[in-house]
Amino acid sequence: MIFDGKALAAEVKQSISERLQGFRVQYGRVPCLAVVLVGNDYGSGRYVANCEKNTAAVGMDCRVLRFPESTTEDELVSQIEMLNENKTVDGILIQMPLPKHIHTERIVDTLSPDKDVDGVTDKNVASLWKQKRSDYSRFCVPCTPRSAMRILKAANIDLTGKRVVVVGRSNIVGLPVAKLLMNENATVTIAHSRTRDLAALLRSAEVIVAAIGQAHFITEDMVSDGVVIVDVGINSDPQTGKMVGDVDTERVAPHCTMITPVPGGVGPLTICSLMENTIDCFLRHC
Ligand code: NDP
Repeated sequence: MIFDGKALAAEVKQSISERLQGFRVQYGRVPCLAVVLVGNDYGSGRYVANCEKNTAAVGMDCRVLRFPESTTEDELVSQIEMLNENKTVDGILIQMPLPKHIHTERIVDTLSPDKDVDGVTDKNVASLWKQKRSDYSRFCVPCTPRSAMRILKAANIDLTGKRVVVVGRSNIVGLPVAKLLMNENATVTIAHSRTRDLAALLRSAEVIVAAIGQAHFITEDMVSDGVVIVDVGINSDPQTGKMVGDVDTERVAPHCTMITPVPGGVGPLTICSLMENTIDCFLRHC
């Protein structure tokens, strides 16, 4: 089965839209997401434009604050402090990567954990690693891992006792998704660029989450029949320039019980998770 992320995202957006209508009546306003975009990174620009489009479609308030590449670290810190204090702003997304002259850690440390919609602050990271069950209402977990988990649930994949290999150990995808998978009682191995004989490890996996960042990295000889694959990668095909994932989907898909395509798999749900995390922030303080 090739998972239809767009169809699931459409359902989620419909439900978000209905919840927002209720909020207007109950609270007199809808949640507000502030997105901070510094510089001209192409991928970031596209993602933020997508945020604007999707929030508008469901009726969520979204304010994009665009700053030039030359913005100083101190200027950015004071802008984020203002957003932290602003009672009409419920969630703040600081779009990464930031320009090289800005220390990401200082910016993340400035962000209020109560408005941290991508679960990047120390407090939210610690909460994720301390919790034994995935309860998204108490704090925000990173949007992409939340989406990957939603897909596995929607596809009725029972993770209990399953051998899962997560390829990638980044703070924003690999590590949090591994923790969420463990919360569902999967037996998780995290692989990375120094993993020896990755192909053999992947062949032993019943579920693979690929978060590598290399086009068509996982090929058909690396998987076993019946495997479930969530492909988080967003890459440009070196030959065609088109967006592709980390998995050679065309050749690998016939071996899979379920696989997410790129585009149209995890991506459409990530913005849904961002909007849901914003709603969760709103509900926690209203
Ligand atoms: P990072 O570059 O931060 O992490 C990549 C990980 O892959 C690292 O842990 C790295 O290992 C590992 N890796 C790289 N090469 C190999 C290799 N040859 N064998 C095994 N492991 C390898 O990327 P992100 O986690 O931020 O993103 C991963 C992918 O997901 C990217 O394509 C990104 O664009 C995409 N993405 C998609 C989102 C979505 O909503 N769909 C959202 C966020 C990201 P090591 O640690 O050893 O370097």
